[in-house]
Amino acid sequence: MPTPLLAGNYHSHTQLCRHAEGMPTDYAAEAVRRGLSILGISDHTPIPDDRWPGVRMPMASLPLYIDSVREAREAWPQLTILMALECEYIPEYHHFYEEELLGRLGMDYLVCAQHWFPCQGEWLGCFGQTNTPERLTAYTNHTIRAMQTELFAFTAHPDIFGNDYPVWDAHAEACAAAIAEAAAELNMPLEINALGFRREKIETPSGIRCMYPWPPFWETAARFPVTVTINSDAHRPADLTKNIPDALALAHRFNLPVVTPVKPK
Ligand SMILES: [Zn+2]
Ligand SMILES: [Zn+2]
Repeated sequence: MPTPLLAGNYHSHTQLCRHAEGMPTDYAAEAVRRGLSILGISDHTPIPDDRWPGVRMPMASLPLYIDSVREAREAWPQLTILMALECEYIPEYHHFYEEELLGRLGMDYLVCAQHWFPCQGEWLGCFGQTNTPERLTAYTNHTIRAMQTELFAFTAHPDIFGNDYPVWDAHAEACAAAIAEAAAELNMPLEINALGFRREKIETPSGIRCMYPWPPFWETAARFPVTVTINSDAHRPADLTKNIPDALALAHRFNLPVVTPVKPK
């Protein structure tokens, strides 16, 4: 069994979200093969009104999701398998995250990940609509509001806005500083998301780069006493530990302390 660079991965998906492959038992087999001791399954949460259905399971699949994590635990007792969900924060559903997901259904943790954010009365998508300073501010405010609920164990890809905000400027700097300051205050790890390294690159006036992780975001974050977590955001079992060295290199470049985002129970 190889010795992994990190003992755990806390961000992985299943086929139930409609854009990933594999079930929890397939990820567990891969985790054991790669020598991980902790596997966090954190598929995209269903939302009570089933909005944004293209990239997440419907509410009706939630019992199957829970059963499939339990089955994986039974099949792979040598592995600690955590049951989680990656969440859009929608204030009107605060009780759903708190009372249903963390409460009644017993999720081990929730991941804060905003792929949509409210701006002037409508929800905009983080892919393609964080492209003005005003929208970037709305994304930032919403992300911080979500973080401050303290429902979440860590904040995934806080620099996701790099996908369409082309050039690092004073607004991007202010956004990174505000998120990092909130993370430091809340003692909440920010995720350097390794999936970004294997997604398509984008062309910008400052050259070709990853959409995220966006190095100047992390350079700014490093001015605050933040911690980071590194996860593959695997959308198929074979990617469970992919690009972890790239993400670790980024953390080391800016002296960002890498932590385990979930305390064992
Ligand atoms: Zn996904
Ligand atoms: Zn994810």
